[in-house]
Amino acid sequence: SAWKCLRTNLLTMLTVTGVLAGVALGFILRGSREEDWSQREQIYVKFFGDIFLRMLKALILPLIVSSLISAIGSLDLSLSGKIGARALAYYMFTTVCAVVLGIILVCAIHPGKVGGERMESTNKPREVTTADTLMDLVRNMFPPNLVQAAMYQTSSCFLHIFVAIDVTEYLMKSKYTDGTNIMGLVVFSTILGITLGKMGKRGKPLLDFFTSLSEAMMIITNWVVWLSPVGVCFLIAAQLLEAKDIGHILEKLGMYFMTVLLGLFIHGFVVLPFMYGVVTRTLPFKFIANMTQALATAFGTASSSATLPITIGCLEDKNGVDPRVSRFVLPIGATINMDGTALYEAVAAIFIAQMEDRPLSLGAIIAISITATAASIGAAGIPQAGLVTMVMVLNTVGLSADYVAYIIPVDWLLDRFRTTINVLGDSLGAGIVDAISKAELEAMPMEGREPPVSQ
Ligand code: ASP
Repeated sequence: SAWKCLRTNLLTMLTVTGVLAGVALGFILRGSREEDWSQREQIYVKFFGDIFLRMLKALILPLIVSSLISAIGSLDLSLSGKIGARALAYYMFTTVCAVVLGIILVCAIHPGKVGGERMESTNKPREVTTADTLMDLVRNMFPPNLVQAAMYQTSSCFLHIFVAIDVTEYLMKSKYTDGTNIMGLVVFSTILGITLGKMGKRGKPLLDFFTSLSEAMMIITNWVVWLSPVGVCFLIAAQLLEAKDIGHILEKLGMYFMTVLLGLFIHGFVVLPFMYGVVTRTLPFKFIANMTQALATAFGTASSSATLPITIGCLEDKNGVDPRVSRFVLPIGATINMDGTALYEAVAAIFIAQMEDRPLSLGAIIAISITATAASIGAAGIPQAGLVTMVMVLNTVGLSADYVAYIIPVDWLLDRFRTTINVLGDSLGAGIVDAISKAELEAMPMEGREPPVSQ
């Protein structure tokens, strides 16, 4: 209806205004006095943003579990297999494209030779190897205790890394220790969804329970989303107060920053839309414009997991994606498909090698592309998770984890841009899979259930 159309677009405009207002507010507050803003003051500024973030985070867990189970359980096994395989093929292909694009750009632009502040490496013995990290990634897929998985990031190696190096004291802050082992929950929910689908009538009561839970979460999302203009505004303003001398940092790391940004832009607004256009035979502009609400939230929160409820809402309500596709592929995509992160990992590792004058053989570059892909899959959808899994990529070229310190100063900003591209990649993927699977989905009505209500 006209009212609904006006209402949804109004919210998007307000959210984009919120992002701009946040940037302006941050700079005005910074400029309003000489000395730094104390932590207490930053907490005050962030307060409403924090509340918004907490509300979104509260939705993630029940939403991921219930959406995956209900979407997969309501499809027959062969169709869910096909949809899953299509999504995974898209995820792998686009992630590799992102890594290759990043490598081409960083080798062509050579930002490591242009600037950058060196630091003394403390050369501590490396306690964690790439193999440990990869094994940890797989280990995380199989949580022994679901309740614990819902509460903690069970990755043991990452915690070792935290303890092993000095620079990551910065990373020790609650951001990295309050994560949920979403990967483990995704794997378990997928298996439960398949099982319930196979059980037929006997599985229906539980399936109905999760379907109704998933719909309830989407309704709550539609309430929470009205807070996004204020939420993103204060999150961004507070982040700007926390950041150290921005001009100086960009002077030092400007070329690296621009290389990542250029790569993200080309990948998100040229490569992926082109793929979408070729596969669906429609222009991607409207689809992308309809995702603005989710993209602005991704920029504001720097977390693809926290943005997930809003991404699902935009895809279903504005782009008409079948809920059996969006609720199936998006929770998985938000967890493992991070094109922006993959691109950034590859660029950052090569940038650091360039600064350190380490010549990189073709073999080393191939190793970087493989580990950058794995690192993006392993990164949780939370702020600056990519910085943590970077350690694995650095290890591949024999650089110790300490070198992460080079890029920490700009990471909070790059994180917001790469999260936006991560969410865009997930959304275009869901659109592509939906378009390819349309005929099969239409042949399989939603078993007399009401289509999920999300308003
Ligand atoms: N913040 C990113 C996300 O949530 C992950 C990262 O690259 O750090 O998608």
